[in-house]
Amino acid sequence: MSYLVLARRYRPKSFKEVIGQNHVVKTLTNALKQQKLPHALLFSGIKGTGKTTVARIVAKALNCKNLIDGYEPCNECINCLEINKGIFVDVIEIDAASNRGIDQIRELIENLKFAPAKGKAKVYIIDEAHMLTKEASNAFLKSLEEPPSHVYFILATTEPNKLLPTILSRCQRHEFRRIDFSLIMKYLKEVCKKENYQIEDEALELIAKEAQGSLRDALSLLDQAIAYGTKTKEDVILAFGWHEAILIEELAAILLEKDMKKALEIAQKIYDQGIDLIYLMEKLTEFFRELLIIKAFPKEIPFNFQTSFFRELILENEMEDIFLVFQSLVKDLEIIKKSSYPQLQFELSLLKICEYGKLAPLKEIIEKLDQISNSNFLFSTSSKLAEKIGESKEKTWENFLEEIKKESLSLYGLISMFPEPDIKEDEICFKFISSSFLESSYFEIFKEKIEKYFNRPLKVEIEEKRDSTLEEVKERPEVKTILKTLSAKIAYIQPLKE
Ligand SMILES: [Zn+2]
Repeated sequence: MSYLVLARRYRPKSFKEVIGQNHVVKTLTNALKQQKLPHALLFSGIKGTGKTTVARIVAKALNCKNLIDGYEPCNECINCLEINKGIFVDVIEIDAASNRGIDQIRELIENLKFAPAKGKAKVYIIDEAHMLTKEASNAFLKSLEEPPSHVYFILATTEPNKLLPTILSRCQRHEFRRIDFSLIMKYLKEVCKKENYQIEDEALELIAKEAQGSLRDALSLLDQAIAYGTKTKEDVILAFGWHEAILIEELAAILLEKDMKKALEIAQKIYDQGIDLIYLMEKLTEFFRELLIIKAFPKEIPFNFQTSFFRELILENEMEDIFLVFQSLVKDLEIIKKSSYPQLQFELSLLKICEYGKLAPLKEIIEKLDQISNSNFLFSTSSKLAEKIGESKEKTWENFLEEIKKESLSLYGLISMFPEPDIKEDEICFKFISSSFLESSYFEIFKEKIEKYFNRPLKVEIEEKRDSTLEEVKERPEVKTILKTLSAKIAYIQPLKE
């Protein structure tokens, strides 16, 4: 018998076996119990989170001969068994990404009117639904509008934003979430136990972390780990070429220590090993993002951050320091991506972060500012600030930033640097100095959130870049006062909000 990959061998066959998607399972099983399942469902979410798997379970629930509790397929009747094998005639899976996609859609439309051949319901599972051509989508739309009572459509997609709005509006949407690290760990351990494979928890942690919330990826990595015969963390690092992971830990510690010499040494080491700098920067940024979250929510420390090394790193560093490094990395990552000299830019980025160590802590600056009474400007600014803090939650840009901060620190890190938008009666006017953010994956999320928060559409303009020069800034009276009071110098200039 040929070897069946873990992801297939352990694919959930019933709702109760589905991992980490309780919200979806609950809605679907309730609808099934009440026999009110909508005829068009849309499953969206990143790869490997169970979209097609759940679609098949729904198909079984609609066709099972001995349904348990009104929603759970028995997995024993002929219909269930045939669906599990993928040979049941009334459950049709279409891969919209394949060349046959369009032909299959045509066939589908023609065959809709016929009653199911064997089961109770015809279920069409359309995978990668965002890949349907415009023609196919349009043809399909009519069927989606008024499906015959025996027909159900389940569309699965990783990119719901690419679907026609008319299709989206006709489907009940279910969002499949990234699966929690701890759930993936638990699952991997169970699988190893069933497979009778001994492997260190630390090694599994690396795998679970790399899977990024995709259970299928986690299982595929475990497959490889087993094939290589890896048992320890070191084995896994070697087998998968994840020595970067170790370098990132080292580098993070150096950046927080603000040790320039060591930072340059490690930059050289990274260069010598020929590691992709953009990849490394991405991982490093991700690392600091996690560190920041852990610092903010110390109760929910993920498994992989529970070693003594991380505990020290988290205990010994202030939130503010971690945030500064994170913010700087987010910004520099974009610059490095576009740079013709990534190596130099990388070193510069590391040095800049080490330089932060010499800046006075924010708290100290605020205290000093408060002591300054001879500057009207500063006085009025800090009192305005105090007033603002006391205000109830008005729909302002600041309050919006506060909300985002709670939800996503990485998005907050990005947008907190933007100038304040103009909130008009019928739209939000936003001026950007470059289009890079608009092209990033964060933009869609940002757009959705800001439009929802202010309850009006977002209008975007790209403005010509105009930088204040260092000399200009130095000449401003308020800057002069600050520089003098703190005996400081300007390290770099970052555009401020109004
Ligand atoms: Zn059954």
